[in-house]
Amino acid sequence: MPVNDAPTPAPGSRGGSPAGAPRALSPETLAVVAGRPPRAAGSELNTPVSLSATYVGGGDALGEGGLGYGRFGNPTWEALEEALGALEGGGALTFASGMAAVAAALHLAPAGATVLVPRGAYNGTHALLALLAEQRRLRVHPVDVTDVAAVRAGLAAVGGPAVLWLESPTNPLLEVADLAALAAAGRERGALVVVDNTFATPLLQRPLDLGADVVVHAVTKYLSGHSDVLLGAVVTRSEDLRARLGRHRTLHGAIPGPMEAFLALRGLRTLPLRLERSQRSAAELALRLRGHRAVARVRHPSLPDDPGHELARTQMRGFGAIVSVEVAGGATAADAVVGAVCLWVPATSLGGVESLVERRRRHAGEPDVVPQQLLRLSVGVEDLEDLWEDLSQALDAAAR
Ligand SMILES: *Cc1c(COP(=O)(O)O)cnc(C)c1O
Repeated sequence: MPVNDAPTPAPGSRGGSPAGAPRALSPETLAVVAGRPPRAAGSELNTPVSLSATYVGGGDALGEGGLGYGRFGNPTWEALEEALGALEGGGALTFASGMAAVAAALHLAPAGATVLVPRGAYNGTHALLALLAEQRRLRVHPVDVTDVAAVRAGLAAVGGPAVLWLESPTNPLLEVADLAALAAAGRERGALVVVDNTFATPLLQRPLDLGADVVVHAVTKYLSGHSDVLLGAVVTRSEDLRARLGRHRTLHGAIPGPMEAFLALRGLRTLPLRLERSQRSAAELALRLRGHRAVARVRHPSLPDDPGHELARTQMRGFGAIVSVEVAGGATAADAVVGAVCLWVPATSLGGVESLVERRRRHAGEPDVVPQQLLRLSVGVEDLEDLWEDLSQALDAAAR
């Protein structure tokens, strides 16, 4: 799985377990085995889709372990949560979408708190923060997450409670943030440290091991992996935070559908295989793209001269499968590339088996630190040569 020699922070890869102690399962195995019903002769191998809006009362049905009502809990969500929690090393709660998970995590902040957020974070997160700022619930302070000293200074300048919101690599600039150093700075200041781990997935990095309080996922993307589900998750080691997030989910009602939870868990089973192939192709495409005359700049942490390369080598188990490309000739030329692809799908979103390409600034809400001519490529699992042929012909057509 690793495309580099970086040490892995995941369980089972720690090596040197004391004599006699059982070795923890590797994440590649957990993705397959976690979240299954107890093994017994004749039992189901997979947790079934549990379609019930309510549960029969009586006895202690509402007591310990009893779900009571479909908004309070569901066995299919729980199976997915068990698997996600095992992979991230915490307790997981699933939500109706990635944004529902982002909103729940932001809701942990007291009114009036200041949220330090990467300048180039996911545009939905920026849009929600702008709304919360407009409503005077939170203050927002964009920071350069590649500059630890600047983030530390930003934290020191905050008067009241603070949230340090992180993404790494960022969407779509692929900036790599030093999560351990930033989490330590955040904690020192008493800030709640949240990492949106959608791009890396727990297979490439585990932010809770690096000191984060909360991890957020758009399960919609790599974890589900087939562009057929919208779902989110929040993971934490804190019992208190988990209880507050659970209460938020029950009362705000952004609960996952049982079918979506089933599909996400089914997709998760092959995450290690999908990611391994996609990120191998992504690294090769990044190299080839750099040599193309229609390309002005390629961003991918695998490239030795990428600003995030050295940090990614030590912090991550692989460099991920998103590549960003700046097309020579500006937005018009970039749009022409998107218009000329046949195999790549011109579409938003990422992390599925199919390769997608999008000019991010076509969205009005995209942060303006993102260049107009930037194309975000989500590399899927198709044959590498087929992907390259289509992309290079589209670039040729745009350069003509
Ligand atoms: C897509 C995405 C989200 C939002 O997820 P949805 O399921 O679309 O609501 C949040 N963060 C990142 C980094 C994303 O890519």
